[in-house]
Amino acid sequence: MIDCLLHEARAAGVQLLARNGIEQARKLESGDFELTLSDRSTTVCDRLLLATGGSRAPTGAEIAQSLGHTILPPVPSLFSLHVETPWLRSLPGVAAADVEVSVPETKLRERGPLLITHNGVSGPAVLRLSAWGARELAQWDYKFPLRLNWMPDIDVASELQLRRNTQPKKHVVNSPIAPLPARLWEQLVSAAGIPDETLWTNLTRAHSLNLQVLLTRCELPVDGKTLNKDEFVTCGGVNLREVNFKTMESRLVPHLYFAGELLDIDGITGGFNFQAAWTTGWIAGRAMGLGSAGASPAVFGAPPKTFRER
Ligand SMILES: Cc1cc2nc3c(=O)[nH]c(=O)nc-3n(C[C@H](O)[C@H](O)[C@H](O)COP(=O)(O)OP(=O)(O)OC[C@H]3O[C@@H](n4cnc5c(N)ncnc54)[C@H](O)[C@@H]3O)c2cc1C
Repeated sequence: MIDCLLHEARAAGVQLLARNGIEQARKLESGDFELTLSDRSTTVCDRLLLATGGSRAPTGAEIAQSLGHTILPPVPSLFSLHVETPWLRSLPGVAAADVEVSVPETKLRERGPLLITHNGVSGPAVLRLSAWGARELAQWDYKFPLRLNWMPDIDVASELQLRRNTQPKKHVVNSPIAPLPARLWEQLVSAAGIPDETLWTNLTRAHSLNLQVLLTRCELPVDGKTLNKDEFVTCGGVNLREVNFKTMESRLVPHLYFAGELLDIDGITGGFNFQAAWTTGWIAGRAMGLGSAGASPAVFGAPPKTFRER
């Protein structure tokens, strides 16, 4: 695909300055842009597309700001959560296929596969929660209670009663409710204070209630997120209100265009960020091309991403 794009670019006479970053952009009275490159040389173009990615490369946002745009402060999106709880930490690599994760007293609620890691919890359900809650979670400095329903489709109280009735002489610790992984069940049974030797017939009402709560409303104290370099995307960037989405042109500065993660766009997992980058890049490129045949546009950054607006 890279070769294909490079070939087409060459065929169209595009000049590539791959080792030359843009450091500044100034709007001239003529309406053109004067660009200062990292080798201190300057060049002039009549249209400018900024596609410099997320907050790891801040120059693009600084240039947009210097041209009058508002930058919504970048916060991480799509990250795993750090949890110290010892019984959970003893289960790295264990995955549950369908878990509902939520933050009490908020609207944040997601459902899907969950992976227990060396540091806490990850997997699609957690990553999606981190994307939709990116700003709230940042405000709380990533310290909040995370509630898990390990089996959202199952009437856990009835399942526990069924086992008490049908297999009274079996050990509780050895008879998990499917589809919960056996090792996770063992730890939940232990966390509920149920001794290993307990048979279903001997399970006290209090212990049964503890287990039911841990299975359906298990609260884990989150005390951080994965380190910055592990995050996939950034929430924040150029304010979408200041961009015409039909052309990706700035509403404030004529002939200035934006694409990709530099915009305040971040998608959930599954390729939506790439799609948003590619789609906005295509729209911008097309609008620039149709806008002024024969002129000389400058594109800094990479081509662009289904996305959602905040
Ligand atoms: C580890 C990881 C995994 C990911 N996995 C997925 C995934 O599975 N699915 C998904 O949809 N998304 C994923 N993403 C996110 C996705 O990669 C980005 O959203 C997407 O690449 C953004 O595209 P972009 O073109 O806007 O920016 P980028 O791909 O970041 O490209 C920006 C380009 O601009 C250049 N640049 C920056 N500043 C300047 C400057 N001043 N002058 C000149 N050039 C400059 C940079 O060198 C870079 O080449 C992942 C990201 C990471 C980090």
